[in-house]
Amino acid sequence: MDTSIYNEIHDFLLNGELPAIEQKRRKIRRMAPNYRLKDNRLFYTGPSMQSMRLVVMSEEEKKSVLMECHNNPGTGNHNGVRGTRNRVVAGYYWPTLNQDIAEWVRCCHRCQMNDPIKTVAPTLHPIKVKEPWEVLGMDLIGPLPETRLGNRYVLTMTDLYTKWVIAEPLKSKTAAEVSAVMTSKLYMFGMVRKIITDQGKEFVNQVKFVKVLVVP
Ligand SMILES: [Zn+2]
Repeated sequence: MDTSIYNEIHDFLLNGELPAIEQKRRKIRRMAPNYRLKDNRLFYTGPSMQSMRLVVMSEEEKKSVLMECHNNPGTGNHNGVRGTRNRVVAGYYWPTLNQDIAEWVRCCHRCQMNDPIKTVAPTLHPIKVKEPWEVLGMDLIGPLPETRLGNRYVLTMTDLYTKWVIAEPLKSKTAAEVSAVMTSKLYMFGMVRKIITDQGKEFVNQVKFVKVLVVP
């Protein structure tokens, strides 16, 4: 990130130093009233001097702010884009914070795992479910950052009656690997009437073992 303008505002507020280029001098004079120095750090206060937001000056610092405001339990707690942004803007400032927060949350492993859109079976029409383990929603989440054991996907099977979820790690999302996991779960917990998924038709046709087990 380019923070040169903030370094220049910092120097101007500290000792009145201005760069040689006239256009830049004007810009810094115009921006400076919105900033304040404290303990030799630059803060964004806004024209009304109401806020006191630390100007984030490096990628490293930006990362630690995002960790604090999104990942840390207590201060962030994976509170979505809006929740994270509210925390960031309360104490920090940098020009690309909106894009950076959206990207950070989008790439957050834990948020992907918990994203309700991805873990609940997509339904276009209401599905009538009368008893537990009758209809399952199947979903594949990923690719995610590779785990120590080489897993990159998560297969979820949701019982639409009880909302009970089984999640199993997968190395790939090939029909063979998915079939193997689903088959073992169906052997363990019993057959179901229907499995609902938003995976493509081609994929569904390949999951042959499961088809045999599903009671029509
Ligand atoms: Zn998160």
